[in-house]
Amino acid sequence: MQASLLGEFVNRIIAASDYTEMDRTYLYNRLLNLLGEKDLPGDFRQTDLLTLVAKMVENYDDRLTKQQQSLLKAQLMDFLVPAPSRLNQKFWQKYQQQGSTAALNYFYHLSQASDYIKVSEIKKNKYFKFNSPYGPLEITINLSKPEKDPRDIARLKTVKASGYPLCQLCFSNEGYQGRLNYPARSNHRLIRFKLFEETWGLQYSPYAYFNEHCIFVDQQHQPMKIERLTFARLLRILDLFPTYFVGSNADLPIVGGSILNHEHFQGGRHVFAMDQAKLRRKVVFKDFPAVQAGILHWPMSVIRLTSRDQEQLIELAAKILDGWQQYSDPTVSVLAETDGKLHHTITPIARKRGAADQLDLVLRDNRQDQQYPAGIFHPHADVQHIKKKNIGLIEVMGLAILPPRLVPELTEVKRFLLDLPNQIADQHLPWAKQIKQQAGAINQANVTAILQDAVGQVFTRVLEDAGVFKNDQSGQAAFDRFITTIGIQTEAKNAN
Ligand SMILES: [Zn+2]
Repeated sequence: MQASLLGEFVNRIIAASDYTEMDRTYLYNRLLNLLGEKDLPGDFRQTDLLTLVAKMVENYDDRLTKQQQSLLKAQLMDFLVPAPSRLNQKFWQKYQQQGSTAALNYFYHLSQASDYIKVSEIKKNKYFKFNSPYGPLEITINLSKPEKDPRDIARLKTVKASGYPLCQLCFSNEGYQGRLNYPARSNHRLIRFKLFEETWGLQYSPYAYFNEHCIFVDQQHQPMKIERLTFARLLRILDLFPTYFVGSNADLPIVGGSILNHEHFQGGRHVFAMDQAKLRRKVVFKDFPAVQAGILHWPMSVIRLTSRDQEQLIELAAKILDGWQQYSDPTVSVLAETDGKLHHTITPIARKRGAADQLDLVLRDNRQDQQYPAGIFHPHADVQHIKKKNIGLIEVMGLAILPPRLVPELTEVKRFLLDLPNQIADQHLPWAKQIKQQAGAINQANVTAILQDAVGQVFTRVLEDAGVFKNDQSGQAAFDRFITTIGIQTEAKNAN
């Protein structure tokens, strides 16, 4: 057979998948069918896989919209990924023979190689660190999600709503081709595992915010709910995948994540600023001698529990959740309920600490009032020019996910700081003036650092706004009053 574009892609499939030499003609014909019987002669052995696929799509029809291209690319990449049953068999075989890390590595690298994880897009994200009083926070400006093609937007007007898949986390996404208004999922796979009596799936996040960012999804499409079972599930997942952390978004609007209608957790292999945070003071809870506990030195209100005894850990976490859901302290604007609506929940995070399990319970309150219509414990108006959206699980742990609009906007702020002609947005002006006043001499050499520092300070404030018990004397006294209602053995002592 003459060397060609499609022929080279067939070579790559055979090299990387379960297909063998016997499948060559079959694969070539399948590709011809998908690509309008169009091939290009030539030697493409030096072309990397993604470029190869892009060429095939362009050669098929160079007028495809971005979305049409992405649907077709995922269909092509699907040839590189085993069928779900085979993949699961391979994953769990590796798990049995070589352990959890080897199995995860296999699936992670496969998800990257098949372009399910958008490696090159993720690289576009901006990233820097900020040394806050709570430790080094991480700031990302998310540029990985591709901008919509205007031709796709125009076509969308004529597309009818479809109820399938029910949501983007449902198992029914596995292998789904996608549509004009639905992402390509031909190359999407889920690793199944048992979580008590239920089946859950593990997948990686296509637009990861950190290393090996994964999602654990319930096979059932049911709403998120933080309850005793949540803590038990998190610890069971840690036992299965001990090198990953796992956490859940809260289950209420304003303080929860963007998907509340399908139970899921997030995890991965990354050390967050919160992991490294120290205790502000220790607490000994009555009847839980096996649990080491304390209040975390963190901008949000966090109770940290560490123990080798999972039963006690789950029991105490459930008791704290139950206590928090009913707890009110009007002196610090903390109300469990208004007009029959409950406001309190928890963002839980679990990780292994050697042989022990650690649970960070972040207290959340989603109440709104006249002064803070977007939420009392939500970024306040004066910091919304940087961050307006919910403070979810990832940000709680100290990794900011800021919107792409900030890249051009901060460029104008920079020009403003350098006294160059600029188009600074009104919403940034008071902040920029303040930076100018406080920074001293600003020049080309230091302006980026000054601006990054200022963004970091705003993010610190954002997290402090989301904290229910503030980091001042009255806030911490109120935190202690709440802790006391759970039942403590001795007076809280200072700890380092
Ligand atoms: Zn769903």
